Amino acid sequence: MTKTAGMVVVLLGSPGVGKGTQGVRLSRALDWAHVSTGDLLRAALRKGTPLGLEARGYMDAGDLVPDDVIIGLVQEHLAGLGPERGVIFDGFPRTVAQAEALDETLAGQQRGVDRVALLDADDSVLIKRISGRRSSASGRVYNVYFDPPRREGFCDDTGEPLIHRADDQPDTVRTRLAVYHELTAPLVGYYDARGLLVRVHAEGGIGQVQHALRGALGV
Ligand code: AMP
Repeated sequence: MTKTAGMVVVLLGSPGVGKGTQGVRLSRALDWAHVSTGDLLRAALRKGTPLGLEARGYMDAGDLVPDDVIIGLVQEHLAGLGPERGVIFDGFPRTVAQAEALDETLAGQQRGVDRVALLDADDSVLIKRISGRRSSASGRVYNVYFDPPRREGFCDDTGEPLIHRADDQPDTVRTRLAVYHELTAPLVGYYDARGLLVRVHAEGGIGQVQHALRGALGV
């Protein structure tokens, strides 16, 4: 076991690789905060806040929301958590500018990124995971192939209807994968050069990947 109080972990990997599913499980097991910028943006969008409305066009197109918007959102969220709370970032940072801003913000809390787990899976697996993905407004994610709800189309926890994300449609997915390769993949080198990167094979079942992830992170 390594130190866990106030630890900061980043989950890195292509859209559909399972960052959300694994991040939620890990955060529940460790009682850490799970910070998904995608979830924060979707919540802002549902509430119709100015930030949500600004983000919408980018999200629908599969493009990244501008760095300054995302960095502001994360800084505000982190300030509310306090430095003692372990944090798992999912879907953030997505650009080198975001990674640098995160380093600066964490330095202000006398901490930094402790580990970065790169979740890795073949494109054929990613496409099935994305096309089968359904989620509830409360944030629980299912997959019609791998992790279906008990009653088709409805959340097991809340009974609410499940949503097929607009940006999970094939054309948008292609853009998201291209954006990942162009803007986010360079973060692999950014964190590897600092000795923070661990690689996790993420093609197995949810429990299997979680086990591998915890082993790789030492938590
Ligand atoms: P996700 O749920 O992580 O796949 O994010 C869904 C969409 O939200 C992305 O395709 C982007 O449009 C936007 N988004 C989420 N996180 C970020 C981020 N860190 N930087 C820029 N855009 C983001």
